[in-house]
Amino acid sequence: MSGSARNTPFTTNNAGIPVESDEHSLTIGDTGPILLQDHYLIEKMAQFNRERVPERVVHAKGGGAYGTFHVTNDVSQFTKAALFQPGTTTQLLARFSTVAGEQGSPDTWRDPRGFALKFYTEQGNYDLVGNNTPVFFVRDPMKFQDFIRSQKRRPDNGLRDNDMQWDFWTLSPESAHMVTWLMGDRGVPRTWRHMNGYGSHTYMWVNGGGEKFWIKYHIKTDQGIEFLTQAEADALAGEDPDLHRRDLYEAIARGDAPSWTMSVQVMPFEDAADYRFNPFDLTKVWPHGDYPLIEVGRMTLDRNPEDFFVHVEQAAFEPSSLVPGIGPSPDKMLLGRLFSYPDTHRYRIGPNYQQLPPNRPHAPVASYAKDGPMRYEPSGTARPYAPNSYGGPAADTARFGDPAGWAATGEMVREAYKLHAEDDDWGQAGTMVRRVLDDAARERLVANVSGHLANGVTAPVLSRALQYWRNIDKEVGDRIATRVNGG
Ligand code: NDP
Repeated sequence: MSGSARNTPFTTNNAGIPVESDEHSLTIGDTGPILLQDHYLIEKMAQFNRERVPERVVHAKGGGAYGTFHVTNDVSQFTKAALFQPGTTTQLLARFSTVAGEQGSPDTWRDPRGFALKFYTEQGNYDLVGNNTPVFFVRDPMKFQDFIRSQKRRPDNGLRDNDMQWDFWTLSPESAHMVTWLMGDRGVPRTWRHMNGYGSHTYMWVNGGGEKFWIKYHIKTDQGIEFLTQAEADALAGEDPDLHRRDLYEAIARGDAPSWTMSVQVMPFEDAADYRFNPFDLTKVWPHGDYPLIEVGRMTLDRNPEDFFVHVEQAAFEPSSLVPGIGPSPDKMLLGRLFSYPDTHRYRIGPNYQQLPPNRPHAPVASYAKDGPMRYEPSGTARPYAPNSYGGPAADTARFGDPAGWAATGEMVREAYKLHAEDDDWGQAGTMVRRVLDDAARERLVANVSGHLANGVTAPVLSRALQYWRNIDKEVGDRIATRVNGG
């Protein structure tokens, strides 16, 4: 019986031509060779062999959803960005992820989580590519590759290795704040819905009068913070490795749309030079007491993508997508990421990745880009060069030429940030341990760290790790040492 007679669609090949069989290849007799003209068989095999794009080197395992961002406060005195003007609602895509694990790795491994947002604004895509942590392990992009390799797999045996992780961390004391954060309760969120997001870097905002501010984003969960203990996380890694991906999908499918409230800390431009911490150092926070949170708006995720590969695997977030009213800062990690993110997308999903459905701007595109592999959109310009006499787009320095920069002079140097009064690698980590964590959270921190160290960390890395923790907090360090040494 034919497909139409059964009232189901015909199978077609990728050219839309009805195929003869879903089950049988074309042979000469039932023992004969398979014929080369069985184009459909060949197409199936060839397509299957090409089903994967390279997974992300970092943030490979994730999930995402569409939603909206609605501005609830008036922050126009700080930024002219269209998406942050009072009452504005903007469509967005969010993707959450682990950092070190591969595509199939368990969602409940202890790891920071990516918290990447793409706002489809009327002035083009604005990407805020943060984590669920306000800080990071390193402060210079020269060390990022080394850091990630220390968290991934060894070249000789293909195994992850705690010794390698602590080797890097203890030789890089700027990691102490982030490692403390990671080893604490928030290192394994219960679900993505139950974690905060942070822009982590410092960004610049520019208002309509050209006034500049330094800002940090805080995107706090409206579901409340919840975490998994190490024992719960270990069990779930086996029982439900896709827990976080499933949880977000199912919550949205049942109409339980999660939401987050975005706030910013705003630092007057001139404060940066003498602030007690270097405000551009990604391993530091700005204490809330110094710069309180100012609410901006609410993000709600209410639509599951219709196809995971198309919309989540091909989603390409890049901190370089900054819209008028928002600029970078001298944070070296941010400046490095402005290059590396678009570069990885060009490699992973091709140079025309911004034409793929999740990445396509909702604003009109009038760029002079043309051609290249897998180009989908026709070039919008009659002449492929600027300036031209045939009505091609023309940039408008007067309208969009932000004073979004800062003064920079001096010799070219390779050196660390200038230290500000309270800049040291242990201070803010110690504050978290002593002032933010309660007794029970401190005890879980000690247990998490000593459990991790007891699993394959050996001399000389082990003794450096114990000293590292004593530098963060003497008492916590001593407790970890006692635990690790079997006391
Ligand atoms: P506050 O007392 O004003 O804030 C402490 C913050 O710590 C809380 O607001 C909360 O952040 C966060 N926090 C609570 N429990 C944990 C946990 N188990 N793991 C990680 N973070 C937690 O103090 P300060 O602003 O003066 O900061 C003190 C320390 O708190 C910092 O050194 C830093 O380690 C940590 N912190 C500070 C943040 C900041 O941006 N100022 C953000 C996060 C942590 P939240 O409100 O974002 O949930």
